[in-house]
Amino acid sequence: MAEILPITQLGNPILRQQAQIIENVHSGQIQKLIDDLITTVVQASGVGIAAPQVAQSYRLFIVASRPNPRYPAAPEMEPTAIINPRIIAHSDEVVKGWEGCLSIPGIRGLVPRYQAIDVEYTSRDGKLHRQQFTDFVARIFQHESDHLDGIVFVDRLQSTQEMMTEQEYQQRIVQQQH
Ligand code: ZN
Repeated sequence: MAEILPITQLGNPILRQQAQIIENVHSGQIQKLIDDLITTVVQASGVGIAAPQVAQSYRLFIVASRPNPRYPAAPEMEPTAIINPRIIAHSDEVVKGWEGCLSIPGIRGLVPRYQAIDVEYTSRDGKLHRQQFTDFVARIFQHESDHLDGIVFVDRLQSTQEMMTEQEYQQRIVQQQH
């Protein structure tokens, strides 16, 4: 049975560590961790979660894009496990967008990310994939990849002026879009 795991909060040193490569994707421990991460991110209404966010320092995250007020055109996808990811190329174009993080509740920030990335990763069945992601999904991928290297989105802000509380964000940014 998949479990909802407690989410590691900023300040916990595990969020600042380099996570380790997964050698055996097929192990029961890793397959269970994937199921638990999916259950946890869905329950938290997140669009992504990385293993260090549940205190498991492995190179694994879930991308769970769905349309939301910030990105009404975001693709609806089944929560997908991304294992040992590598960003092998990226666009010159960088776009700024608002991000939040389950490990940093109550804070939003305007984060520059590459508009498009070419990536390599292993899926939960052990297959190697090479794929391009753009826009919102590329943003999630970069945010979650950062977690595997001990980086959180507030580290990427160009200015602390581009940060606001969740409450202000909901009033100023989300409302404006309707
Ligand atoms: Zn995060």
